[in-house]
Amino acid sequence: MPLVPMRTMLDHAAENDYGVAALNVNNMEQIQAIMMAAEETDSPVIIQASSGARKYTNDAYLRHLMLAAVELYPKIPIVMHLDHGNAPEACFSAIEQGFTSVMMDGSLTLDSKPSSYDYNVEVTLKVVEAAHAVGVSVEGEIGALGGIEDGHGAGLSEEEAQEHLTDPAQAEQFVADTGVDALAVAIGTSHGAYKFKKKPTGEVLKMSLIEEIHKRLPNTHLVMHGSSSVPQELQDIINKYGGDIRQTYGVPIEEIQRGIKHGVRKVNVDTDSRLAITGAIRKVFAETPEAFDPRKYLTPAREAMKQVCVARMTAFGQAGNAGKIKPNTCKEMVDFYKK
Ligand SMILES: [Zn+2]
Repeated sequence: MPLVPMRTMLDHAAENDYGVAALNVNNMEQIQAIMMAAEETDSPVIIQASSGARKYTNDAYLRHLMLAAVELYPKIPIVMHLDHGNAPEACFSAIEQGFTSVMMDGSLTLDSKPSSYDYNVEVTLKVVEAAHAVGVSVEGEIGALGGIEDGHGAGLSEEEAQEHLTDPAQAEQFVADTGVDALAVAIGTSHGAYKFKKKPTGEVLKMSLIEEIHKRLPNTHLVMHGSSSVPQELQDIINKYGGDIRQTYGVPIEEIQRGIKHGVRKVNVDTDSRLAITGAIRKVFAETPEAFDPRKYLTPAREAMKQVCVARMTAFGQAGNAGKIKPNTCKEMVDFYKK
């Protein structure tokens, strides 16, 4: 089947109470890992690329790798999503490249500072109007996350991020003002590996905020960013084989599952894949220093990322749903948005 719009997938997830992992990619092995996991678990998938990934792949490699995934896995619904478009132009060029969903992150200005509400509405609305006219789904963001990744983010510390959490009333207004399909909210998570200095409690990871926002916006698909779990065993593998990852804590799986019970439909996971890949490669380098065929270390790296994907797809409940989604195309969504 062709790439599907994100709205279609998240509507199905909402009707059936599950969440979908949105997994970042930069290269062939990462796309392969996701698709192997999706096939094994019969999962619909959201594959997302940041501006950094688009630059790294010159767009063209990414586009053709995605077409390869579509060709090889005709029964798996796949969404191709732009992660953190920083300006309307970034979203428009993604739509030209065939992305079926875009994120306009107007929560930050072009120089990565927390933006004003009016700025956010202005840029997001511009994208919603253009994207919906061609049936492409749109994710917006209200509130600002901590950390920085792929050059994106205000670099807020764990403490500073607490000052930019999503205001539920403002979230409700934002959806009314823009008409986004999905909304990323800031609840204390941050991008990258260093999210929390200790296992997070409700004090720093405000899942209660998700519940409040969901009550006000029962029909908007909520998105959790920075939601890698940063498993201890992945940190340990890297450090055992010569790496240097400072002790850190991510978002516990059970907290994500709590979010999924309260309207979270898209869960962004990138760091866990990166950790799995790096650990596997380090292990090969340490144990077989004579190896020099890239497949010798990229094959276990791909397998390690696949295992992370299988675990998340199972935990979030998307497993078993690939065949249940009635696929459609962006073209078919145009009339939906006219209503
Ligand atoms: Zn993000």
